[in-house]
Amino acid sequence: MPGTTQHGLFIDGTWESPAGSARFVTRNPATGEELGSFVSGRAEDANRAVAAAARAFPAWRDTPAPKRGELLLRVAEVLRHRKEEIGRVVTMEMGKVIAEGRGDVQEAIDFVEYMAGEGRRLAGETIPSELYRKFCMTVRQPKGVVACITPWNFPTAIPNWKIAAALICGNTVVFKPASNTALCAVEVVRAYEEAGIPAGVLNLVTGPGGVVGNALVSHPKVRAISFTGGVETGRDVYVRGAQQLKMVHLELGGKNPQIVMDDANLPLALEGVLFGAFGTSGQRCTATSRLILHEKVYDEFLAMLLERLAKFRVGDPLDPATDMGPVASADQEKKVLEYIAIAHSEGGRLAFGGKKRTGGAFDRGFFLEPTVFETSHGSRISKEEIFGPVLSVMKARDYEDAVRIANDVDYGLSSSIYTKDVNRAFRAVQELEAGITYVNAPTIGAEVQLPFGGVKNTGNGGREAGSVAIEEFTEIKTVFLDFSNHLQKAQIDPR
Ligand code: NDP
Repeated sequence: MPGTTQHGLFIDGTWESPAGSARFVTRNPATGEELGSFVSGRAEDANRAVAAAARAFPAWRDTPAPKRGELLLRVAEVLRHRKEEIGRVVTMEMGKVIAEGRGDVQEAIDFVEYMAGEGRRLAGETIPSELYRKFCMTVRQPKGVVACITPWNFPTAIPNWKIAAALICGNTVVFKPASNTALCAVEVVRAYEEAGIPAGVLNLVTGPGGVVGNALVSHPKVRAISFTGGVETGRDVYVRGAQQLKMVHLELGGKNPQIVMDDANLPLALEGVLFGAFGTSGQRCTATSRLILHEKVYDEFLAMLLERLAKFRVGDPLDPATDMGPVASADQEKKVLEYIAIAHSEGGRLAFGGKKRTGGAFDRGFFLEPTVFETSHGSRISKEEIFGPVLSVMKARDYEDAVRIANDVDYGLSSSIYTKDVNRAFRAVQELEAGITYVNAPTIGAEVQLPFGGVKNTGNGGREAGSVAIEEFTEIKTVFLDFSNHLQKAQIDPR
């Protein structure tokens, strides 16, 4: 691969390319251009990274949390300084439009800063004792070596959500990024290196999930795994982690509904669904993939949507005028086109798009049309995660019917309702089965200071981001301090 920059693994504070390692490249999904060459890590590389992280753990654990926070503030500074450059790398490697590429980096900056502040909290509790002169409290302690396994759709934000939260709590990290976005991962790790991360505290091992990810999940010294990706992989990671009683945090898919009631502000709901369904080419776990329209506004709203889509610009994601770039990879393109074929075979009515864009520059990339199917609830496209720019539109008789349809899927990440009726809005907050509900806003739009995660097959109960992010990465120690100078027996001594 002449001309392609070669990147190494980052283990124990050193970039290295182990002798004899195979390599892989990442490519721009809009142009096919090679972006970098990366080490195809082996199990032994993952094991070396875990050993380095284990060695670095005691000193990092003993570093005062506010000092760990100072390092994170420096990371945020580096990312801010390089935001434009890294944002372009995100767009070139993953395909999201440049405003979203910058947004990806901004989310990383926001979260790293937020976690830096957590270094001055990491709060436990004080709880009264039932005995005299006894003081009880809880303190948070790190778990040890943590594996962060991340997807390609938010290639700088999601890694930082995991890495910064793990580090502020005093853990050391082995980071295994999605192979598709290995250059973004290198950029993330460079920011920590430039900020002065001590050797071994953060390690990067690129390479196939089935090899590197597998080795990390199976390694007895890895005490916690934070994973975001597909349901099948997540389930496998969960089962294998459970065999060693590891804490496994999973952030998986979604089939997120936007409900539009008959009293909704329709132009606002239209902006919401365009952003929610086709932002990041529909490749967000919170993407709007179902539009549930009250029957009284069905025809009018669908016509408004189709009119706007006719003007939608698919193309070069680096061009600020582009509304939607390519999907991230050949695999993604194949999967989405398969679902489009399934939708046809199920009798879905294609209302818009449905094809690969071809001709000229389109032939070099994975460009799909924004696609809308009118379908009935129960069809495969209305229930399975597609992870692409395909929106299923369904009709609901009333509020109850809309919520029934919204809830009748295996996932429960994000949800949205557009209505002006405050009672109905609060009912939806109570009744929609999802970790996140938006009222009069699209299903996408996470903010780092709020918990993020879902119910049902979306995960296994944990939440990322917000102050609860530290739950994932800490153990609680309960401390009893007896200053009575007597042996006191709980439950037994006279009261
Ligand atoms: P995967 O779940 O396969 O990949 C996610 C991460 O897990 C990647 O880093 C991957 O590495 C790694 N991995 C793969 N196999 C293993 C394994 N056996 N043990 C440990 N780690 C492993 O997702 P894909 O990228 O293949 O996407 C497939 C589908 O998953 C998408 O179409 C979408 O439906 C869903 N998805 C959901 C996301 C979300 O945000 N919830 C994000 C991305 C995908 P490698 O890249 O080397 O394979």
